Amino acid sequence: MTVDVIIVGGGGSGLACAAAAAQRGLDVVVLEKRPAPGGTTGIAIGSFTASRTKWQREAGIDDDPAEHERDAGQFGPPEHQRLNNDSLRQFFLEHGADTLAWLEQLGLSFHGPHPEPPNRVPRMHNVVPNAKAYIAALQAELSRLGGRLICDADVQSLMRDDPEQPAAVTGVTYLRHGKTETLRARLAVVLAAGDYAASPELIGRHRGEEFTCIEGINAHATGDGHKLAEQAGAQLVNMQITYGPELRFVPPPREPFTQLLPASGSSMRVMGWLARRAPKWIIRRLIKRLLVTWQHPEDALFEDGAILLNQQGERFCNELQSPAREIAVARQTGKVGYVLLDQRLVRRYEAWPHFISTAPEIAYAYASDYLRLRPDIAVAGSLANVCQRRGLDPARVAETLRSYHAQLETGADPYGRRDGPADAAMDASWLLLGPLKAYFTTTEGGVAINRQFQALDALGRAIPRLYAVGQNGLGGMVLWGHGLHIAWAITSGRLLGEQLGTTSGTTQPNET
Ligand SMILES: Cc1cc2nc3c(=O)[nH]c(=O)nc-3n(C[C@H](O)[C@H](O)[C@H](O)COP(=O)(O)OP(=O)(O)OC[C@H]3O[C@@H](n4cnc5c(N)ncnc54)[C@H](O)[C@@H]3O)c2cc1C
Repeated sequence: MTVDVIIVGGGGSGLACAAAAAQRGLDVVVLEKRPAPGGTTGIAIGSFTASRTKWQREAGIDDDPAEHERDAGQFGPPEHQRLNNDSLRQFFLEHGADTLAWLEQLGLSFHGPHPEPPNRVPRMHNVVPNAKAYIAALQAELSRLGGRLICDADVQSLMRDDPEQPAAVTGVTYLRHGKTETLRARLAVVLAAGDYAASPELIGRHRGEEFTCIEGINAHATGDGHKLAEQAGAQLVNMQITYGPELRFVPPPREPFTQLLPASGSSMRVMGWLARRAPKWIIRRLIKRLLVTWQHPEDALFEDGAILLNQQGERFCNELQSPAREIAVARQTGKVGYVLLDQRLVRRYEAWPHFISTAPEIAYAYASDYLRLRPDIAVAGSLANVCQRRGLDPARVAETLRSYHAQLETGADPYGRRDGPADAAMDASWLLLGPLKAYFTTTEGGVAINRQFQALDALGRAIPRLYAVGQNGLGGMVLWGHGLHIAWAITSGRLLGEQLGTTSGTTQPNET
């Protein structure tokens, strides 16, 4: 079978590309390896950071993508920002607002803009009710226009069999229900296969062998698109930069309430209408439920004296040293750890500015929020009680606390800490949070691309008919902070889809 465009991956970037190309009359097929589309986009919170948007204007905020680019460079470690592809990020930020408007036309609603320093003005727009709405709306648009999504289709290799253009990518082979299938593309093969947070091979090669024990939050983010690009001779850039590892609580056994809210159809539009009029505290409450699902416990908890325990009830690292702490957690039984807070800390982490986790400046989750919303990972009571409820040996934990205190007094803590829970009494009140794991949230390495999203080889030459978008095609940009990854995924997908529709029938662009 031959189509105009093949898209590898049915997450945010792939579906955006497919929907935009289908809007321009192209024959599109999305191949998705999972039984359903969504990818990491589908489990995200859904924040979309952009400048000069309609929502900003309505809030009286005067903004500019050039200012946004300056602020984007203030997020995260400076040594990473030094590696940023400035011109591509500037290009991206200039198109974010149009993407939001496009998404609104597809029926999506947003609340915000919310502040997130060091952004100097509020730029974070949050989709209602969560990121699953992106997938639902894009999939609905694709299907309305006759585009096809084939699930359980695991793309294995790129084809290059055009005798007139041997370097050109002409199609893909994919595995479906145990059978190898082929599909050819007249115009483009688009890599939209997400990140490599769950690829020990790519993580080991680029970040270091010691990180291979750490999982990706999305266990299916295995960097397939990066590997396919590499096999086709594309250059991969900034592969050593990862978002994480971070400690995060394991997900709830059932989907949280907000994940169950309607993400498509008329009910979603009603929710969007309500969200724009709802008091801020209701929005915060909704976001709080997402916060306790995936957000990481703040480092301040450990700085204030909380300790980490393993399943055997023992300490195993210096809780203040990251990423050594995350590597240590990933090496424990079941790859899990628990955070133990004494009575003093439980009281302290009950009011701002002492929160357990946050979506900065939007919502904060405190000890009582975790006890109320995540009883599966938060227990309070006597030491014996909290330990028994998590299968930890209370006597062993009490012994760990006693020896830790003795070591603190003599300065002999084997892991080098000088503080700890103030109260080691067995009958005092404690809060035990966990299990938690060390996770990579996402990765910042991607295929080198130009502004036409063409994959580039080591000499900067475009590989004919091969394109990359989303996390797969980051092109050397550093997108630290909240909301830029989804903004890039959907913006890059939309722009490429529109471009393919516009240039079809003419010569393919080749600007580098
Ligand atoms: C918990 C969490 C919360 C987040 N929240 C936010 C947020 O609020 N805002 C924000 O900006 N960013 C957020 N992020 C990051 C953001 O969600 C992602 O970076 C972004 O959505 C990635 O989009 P994508 O299209 O590049 O990849 P994905 O959405 O992951 O899509 C890739 C798709 O390709 C498929 N695929 C992979 N390999 C193959 C193959 N061989 N064959 C066929 N299909 C394949 C995958 O199954 C997947 O469906 C969050 C990340 C996490 C983990």
